[in-house]
Amino acid sequence: MSHKKKRHVYPDVLALPRPVVDNHTHIPVHGEPGAADDQRDYGDAVEGQGRPLTVRTALERLRAANVRRVITCGCEVPTLEPNIALARQYPDQVAAAIAIHPNDAALHRGVTDVGADGMEHGLDPWHREYSLEDAVALVADLARDPHVVAIGETGLDYFRTADAGKAAQIESFRMHIELAKELELPLQIHDREAHADCLRVLEECGAPERTVFHCFSGDAEMARVLADHGWYASFAGPLTYPANETLREAFRVLPSELILAETDAPYLTPVPWRGYPNAAYAVAYTVAFQAQLRGVALAEWCDRVDANTREVYGI
Ligand SMILES: [Zn+2]
Repeated sequence: MSHKKKRHVYPDVLALPRPVVDNHTHIPVHGEPGAADDQRDYGDAVEGQGRPLTVRTALERLRAANVRRVITCGCEVPTLEPNIALARQYPDQVAAAIAIHPNDAALHRGVTDVGADGMEHGLDPWHREYSLEDAVALVADLARDPHVVAIGETGLDYFRTADAGKAAQIESFRMHIELAKELELPLQIHDREAHADCLRVLEECGAPERTVFHCFSGDAEMARVLADHGWYASFAGPLTYPANETLREAFRVLPSELILAETDAPYLTPVPWRGYPNAAYAVAYTVAFQAQLRGVALAEWCDRVDANTREVYGI
């Protein structure tokens, strides 16, 4: 199927027998807070991917898929408040997580060096306007809102950020760990090609009581470290990709009590919709895949991951 055709199709709704939560997604919030629903869409979130799916349609599909709630993540200065506003507007279906993304942490320190991904990262006005400390202080202020249920995503990204940005990322990660502990909120960690340093910083600072590796990408050995500490692994679409046997091995060694499900939409659409635009309701495909891998009935697995979600986020 041509790319052009794919752009115009979203995954079918897979109706789960029992309700679950997409514990990490990005609902685009580029519209003005309080703007009419149809002014917000998923389509612009990934340039060139997907025709607009309005927030209202997205929420309808969540209901149809039996995805009872989503945690939408705002992780740069301009998206912090709008994500909280969305949770305020739809409190039954949406909650918020906020933080300064590790790649943004480097930009707040003025580091624009090209990383392993080979892409240029220019500074946006807010990177100049806010120091890293000021940006994290803004997160700290806003995170006191009751609609914020987690600090995230924070952590380390050695793929998109060059060596020169590592120090800023580590400092930012430490600040967010302390903030999560202070506010007694769970922590959602972004760990891209930085497994050892993520684990080290967590050990050094002392992890928050509820710690989640969002879009977990480690191997079985790392999964054992998580299990030893009682840290959670949230699996997204990549679990379903044929090449990712290492990730499935990690999934297999984790106790069921530490497993969560997410989309990280608009990225990482699960099989069989890989290559199509992702959206939170498609978490149903990942949950169904997890149940199969686990060899348990789908309803039973939905109840398991939903109980884990309540344990972590209280929602
Ligand atoms: Zn994310």
